[in-house]
Amino acid sequence: MSEQIQGQCLCGAVQVTAAVDQPRLRACHCDMCRQHTSGAFFSLETVAGSIAVTGPARDYQSSDWASRGFCGACGSTLWYQMDGTRNLSAGLFPDAGGGMLKVEFFADKCPQGYALAGQHKKMTTKETIALFAPQDGDAK
Ligand SMILES: [Zn+2]
Repeated sequence: MSEQIQGQCLCGAVQVTAAVDQPRLRACHCDMCRQHTSGAFFSLETVAGSIAVTGPARDYQSSDWASRGFCGACGSTLWYQMDGTRNLSAGLFPDAGGGMLKVEFFADKCPQGYALAGQHKKMTTKETIALFAPQDGDAK
């Protein structure tokens, strides 16, 4: 059974709610996520179609296939969106949603100083692209 959770950006102007089955985190080490967040982008798995967002959320088209949400007031990272699906920033929620890390994407691009501890799946650039963008193209 899923649980409804609520989060917000740094200034509180953007409020988000979503349903979560089992809180699990994903981390992305691609160049764009690092530039956007300074670290890995940690997102929380949510139930499809359950996300509601209110407030001055803005969307930046960061590539031909994806966009990144941010608060228009404080700039907090809100989501990574691809194919109409928003992957919410885990940091919006108390204790990052309380989940364990499930997978790292682009793990071979993880800077040495950003290495994450724990037993979880680590997907290389090649494996990540094969999963999300089977066509040729940059890993962004
Ligand atoms: Zn804000």
